[in-house]
Amino acid sequence: MSTTIAFIGLGNMGGPMAANLVKAGHRVTGFDLSAECVARAKAAGVAIAASAAEAVQGAAVLISMLPASRHVEGLYLGETGILQSVAPNTLIIDCSTIAPASAQKVAQAAGQRGLTMIDAPVSGGTAGAQAGTLTFIVGGDDAALARARPLLEAMGKNIFHMGTAGAGQVAKLCNNMALGVIMAATGEALALGKAHGLDVGALSAMMAVSTSRSWATEVCNPWPGVLPNAPSSKGYVGGFGNDLMLKDLGLAVEAALQTGATIPLGESARNLYAMNSSAGRGGLDFSSVVRLFQKDA
Ligand code: NAD
Repeated sequence: MSTTIAFIGLGNMGGPMAANLVKAGHRVTGFDLSAECVARAKAAGVAIAASAAEAVQGAAVLISMLPASRHVEGLYLGETGILQSVAPNTLIIDCSTIAPASAQKVAQAAGQRGLTMIDAPVSGGTAGAQAGTLTFIVGGDDAALARARPLLEAMGKNIFHMGTAGAGQVAKLCNNMALGVIMAATGEALALGKAHGLDVGALSAMMAVSTSRSWATEVCNPWPGVLPNAPSSKGYVGGFGNDLMLKDLGLAVEAALQTGATIPLGESARNLYAMNSSAGRGGLDFSSVVRLFQKDA
């Protein structure tokens, strides 16, 4: 069944996600502040609106994919927020990675207007967004997820329901905190091997089938030249930006402070990605954190 969808945020992730909804036969109207993103989405068959309020006119579903909490709260809340413009019974799906408290605040405001909302942050990166193989990590009630499921399936292949509003964001932060730590630890190990004269390709091949194997050794190896398709072999361009990882680790630290959880490795990793950002690599793939450990860098 074809659904009329408003899609706000057509960046590296939102653009290809909206394009996959068009491919699945849905009518998608998008909005983004960037002219470049708008042009790319238009070429993929997304109708373009002049504002978010215009995009939601006549839409049964509203999807957002924005950078951070402040953008999501800015879009939805307040007197000029989009919650004032959406029709009753609109289903809202926010796929951005934001603070769990922020997701709960927006879901509560939506609930007060009689609207249904789920948080559905994703894993799988830009490649997963393009291929339609994302993992959705969902917080919200069963009925809302049942309505969203066919659309999520047009953009991804795995859906995990973690609990009520905000639970998707908590689970996403847990995943990314572990990923940030593992990437930094892998980079540190490879740099140690290199400092002792080892061939980093051979070291990586061994680790990839041994007990330290991970996505960082097998798919997104941080050492240039080990895996030709990894961002590290393309000047760390593309992939998952260092500053997005830095944001997610900041959210993990905030979430730990709220509950008194102990996250010594997550806090150290946040500092490493902050140092990598200060060294001018904030816009590069997060695997460039390895440069902090390379003796010749
Ligand atoms: P991006 O910066 O490429 O895209 C965000 C887009 O939002 C931009 O095009 C920007 O112009 C637009 N935008 C900002 N405020 C807006 C507003 N008020 N109205 C309309 N458009 C607005 O970022 P991205 O890589 O697409 O990431 C989006 C989210 O997905 C982030 O929360 C990120 O943490 C998460 N995420 C990213 C990846 C990845 O690999 N890039 C993977 C998983 C999750």
